[in-house]
Amino acid sequence: MQPFEFIVSIFENFLDPKKRVFIGYLFAALIIAFFWLIFYKKFTLNHAIRKLFDQKVFLSKSSKADFSVFFINRIFTLFVSPLLLTQLVVATSIFNLLLLVDWADWSFGLVLSKPTIVAAFTFAVFMLDDFTKYIVHRWMHRWPALWALHKVHHSAEHLTPITIYRTHPLEGIVFSLRSAVSQGLVIAIFFYFFGNSVDLLTVIGVNILVFSFNVAGSNLRHSHIGIQYWGWLEYVLISPAQHQLHHSIAEEHYDKNFGATLALWDWLFGSLHHSVDTDILVLGIKDKDVSDHQSLYGLYIVPLIQFGAGIMKMVNGVKNKMFIAVKYTGNWRKFP
Ligand SMILES: [Zn+2]
Ligand SMILES: [Zn+2]
Repeated sequence: MQPFEFIVSIFENFLDPKKRVFIGYLFAALIIAFFWLIFYKKFTLNHAIRKLFDQKVFLSKSSKADFSVFFINRIFTLFVSPLLLTQLVVATSIFNLLLLVDWADWSFGLVLSKPTIVAAFTFAVFMLDDFTKYIVHRWMHRWPALWALHKVHHSAEHLTPITIYRTHPLEGIVFSLRSAVSQGLVIAIFFYFFGNSVDLLTVIGVNILVFSFNVAGSNLRHSHIGIQYWGWLEYVLISPAQHQLHHSIAEEHYDKNFGATLALWDWLFGSLHHSVDTDILVLGIKDKDVSDHQSLYGLYIVPLIQFGAGIMKMVNGVKNKMFIAVKYTGNWRKFP
């Protein structure tokens, strides 16, 4: 790839409505934040503008590290993404599996109208995508090997819309596989039952539900503007302040608000925390096992070493269990 093409591919992120940092979504977030500061926080015009473009945030060491990771990961993605499993492969495999089963009595295609099928498909794609993001995010916090990777995102001490790209490349692969499996599953099932009636309801090529979420200021979740929703709404949708709380260093905020768009999953599975005034939050991670979490060594190499160690620990754990099993084979009643 030519250097010029690489530069273009980076800027495409800001011009593609499928990407979170599409310039239109960033502008929508800016407008929402502005109105929040003026009408809710009662800031003066001057104060609001200074807050929105706060140099302490955007020029911080943490934000500069975000930009480095954004550029480096872009190079990584260019080489690795063509090798990854695509949703088309998953969808085709599941579709073929479904063909092996006799579903002759299932005649949804005859019962449901096309608009109903399109609405159901659009909703199902969105819901399964959001739910699997919640599940995988929980795993990222629970398993030491995965936490070693996810720590890169949590080591941000200031949040900006670019922080969403502050992830270790291996975490990027885990989430790409998740996306392929969840989208492929819904596509295969719907195409199997409804055939050519299946279509996605879109706005400028984006799932209408994802588009609505992005226009409603999704970028503010990674920002220094702590917009809080009404209490009842925070049971359903993750507010910017709720995600900022997920980044808090305080122990009472650990393992809370894993949701991407919906807070519903957190509510259902007991990890919901309502937002607090984010001015009191300190963001980042507590374990100082790296001298500098903002250095490329701390962002790329240390997580890799810790990930390897985590995997080895898991393998050894399984091996030990097998060893005990073999040792007690002669007397299974004693098996611990
Ligand atoms: Zn997290
Ligand atoms: Zn985050």
